[in-house]
Amino acid sequence: MDPLQTAVNPDIPSIARVYDYMLGGKDNFAADRAVGDQLFALNPDARAATLENRAVLVRAIRYLAAERGITQFLDIGSGLPTQQNVHQAAQAINPDARVVYVDNDPIVLAHGRALLAENDKTVVIQADMRDPASILTDPQVSAMLDFDKPVAVILCGVLHHLDDAEHPRGVVTSFMDRMPAGSHVFITHFARTGPNSEIAERILIAGIGSGRFRTAQEIEELFDGYSLAEPGVVFVPQWRPEEPIEGELEDWQRLLMGGLAEKP
Ligand code: SAM
Repeated sequence: MDPLQTAVNPDIPSIARVYDYMLGGKDNFAADRAVGDQLFALNPDARAATLENRAVLVRAIRYLAAERGITQFLDIGSGLPTQQNVHQAAQAINPDARVVYVDNDPIVLAHGRALLAENDKTVVIQADMRDPASILTDPQVSAMLDFDKPVAVILCGVLHHLDDAEHPRGVVTSFMDRMPAGSHVFITHFARTGPNSEIAERILIAGIGSGRFRTAQEIEELFDGYSLAEPGVVFVPQWRPEEPIEGELEDWQRLLMGGLAEKP
């Protein structure tokens, strides 16, 4: 595993900054936009697909806080701050909700610290999810989260940045094994749904070095042993939508799948 980068390098595209560009954000450089533009050329609706991923994340956080009584969130691969962030969604429902953001990209740490300067129930740390122990034993994490009480582990749009040899399922269990019963895991993941997903995978791997599109079965296996909440693992627009979805999904709505599960 590469050591954590300490400085932002504008010449090498970064996952966090490409994603920020896809969302319509401003914290990105020409190298990031070049990768994003290839994805937009492949699929002009790629921004809508990215926004759907943020929307399902917010729905999941609200559901966890409001319906499942979760007060602690460990958001791994949190990304750059954007319009509605996990702590804002959770603390709008429960002002005492505590959130730890984790990302390995130094730009997330810099922007996150600025956003969170006045929020004493939220912290951001720089760490790599491939080294779960470094996160679970970080003093800032243990000061914020009580691992004797249920935690929601959020792995939204991040496990697809691990290749098979990096064992995404092992990353899930490393975190969930440390959490008590009643903890939850929320995952969204690129879905292998056809030729466009294979082209997108090639663009991402060439541009940023990662981005695996996995089958529905491979994504479901990430939740093995936990109790999936309704409606199970589905395309992200279908996960507890605010309005019923009419008709067939468009191609761009089938780029990511996700689900939420509870540790029994
Ligand atoms: N979770 C947010 C969301 O769904 O909107 C952001 C997703 S963004 C596509 C993926 C984030 O995961 C990026 O910010 C990237 O830096 C981070 N990331 C990728 N690999 C990581 C790793 N090994 N450890 C920690 N963070 C990682």
